[in-house]
Amino acid sequence: MTFRATILTLYPEMFPGPLGTSLAGRALGERKWSLDAVNIRDFTTDRHRTVDDTPAGGGAGMVLRADILARAVDAHADGRPLIAMTPRGRPLTQSRVRELAAGPGAVILCGRFEGFDERLLEARGVEQISIGDYILSGGEMATLVLLDACVRLLPGVMGAASSGVEESFESGLLEYPHYTRPVEWEGRTIPEVLRSGDHAKIAAWRQRQAEIDTRLRRPDLWERHEGARVGSPSGARQRTED
Ligand code: SAH
Repeated sequence: MTFRATILTLYPEMFPGPLGTSLAGRALGERKWSLDAVNIRDFTTDRHRTVDDTPAGGGAGMVLRADILARAVDAHADGRPLIAMTPRGRPLTQSRVRELAAGPGAVILCGRFEGFDERLLEARGVEQISIGDYILSGGEMATLVLLDACVRLLPGVMGAASSGVEESFESGLLEYPHYTRPVEWEGRTIPEVLRSGDHAKIAAWRQRQAEIDTRLRRPDLWERHEGARVGSPSGARQRTED
């Protein structure tokens, strides 16, 4: 089964964009995944190819029309997850990325202007995903982010790389910091333990660094991680051993 992405957008020329280069681009060329960018305007019915209208209730901007979006969605919906990129969505996580990457792909709606008529999202049961708490000018960049995260997990895309069981978020923690040669640079040396060759000590150091950095930088992640640990029977045991 190949991962197939269908993107419904007003700017199909933005794709594959950066996904046409590097690992994702090579994999695209090798047909390890596919991408189809479809212009929402092709589903308009009037001479001016109108996709939007003014917001009910007033206010700034324009809203993408439910009837036009529905025609675009219905022409492509085939059981793949149907996703709309929106800052009102559930924040994207590595675990959702893993699920999507293990599936048949996705049909993804990119918003513009003020976004989508809410009735379309309800009527078609669209999953709403946000890539973070800030506002982009359109859903295309958010879609590129989502697809990049998925594609690198597809079989054969990352090559020999460990494909990241140790990576940030996979264990609920940020990853430990990395170093490489030269051993000394601008008076800073690589931590001694990493040069010791003692794999158990290195693993323990990395675990400790991951915990420290997560606690300091991402108290939200840390709280969840600790909650899960304390909540589980093994976590409870660990606690009493500390
Ligand atoms: N008025 C909307 C923002 C519209 S931004 C609001 O305040 O919620 C225009 C489009 O950009 C959105 O429809 C969405 O498709 C995309 N977009 C903007 N920020 C995004 C984010 N953080 N995550 C995902 N998509 C985003």
